[in-house]
Amino acid sequence: MPITNCERCKREIFRSEACDYCGKKICAQCERASQRVKKVQRLVICRTCWGSMKKRGAYKNKMNPAQAVVAAQTKSEF
Ligand SMILES: [Zn+2]
Ligand SMILES: [Zn+2]
Repeated sequence: MPITNCERCKREIFRSEACDYCGKKICAQCERASQRVKKVQRLVICRTCWGSMKKRGAYKNKMNPAQAVVAAQTKSEF
């Protein structure tokens, strides 16, 4: 296994997780929260994205960024 660096804090990480909202590879310290959405799907959000109301809202609604975009577009049409 190649050692990679966290794209947020540059720490060396052995097992990387990618934030679902910015796509960055992050370490456990930078992972703010994660949740299981379906049996196979997990949502991971980093501390940077947690600071964004939009992304945090999407996370709390169990939506990945693509779903959040669709939801936002549907809303604005009404
Ligand atoms: Zn990190
Ligand atoms: Zn992120």
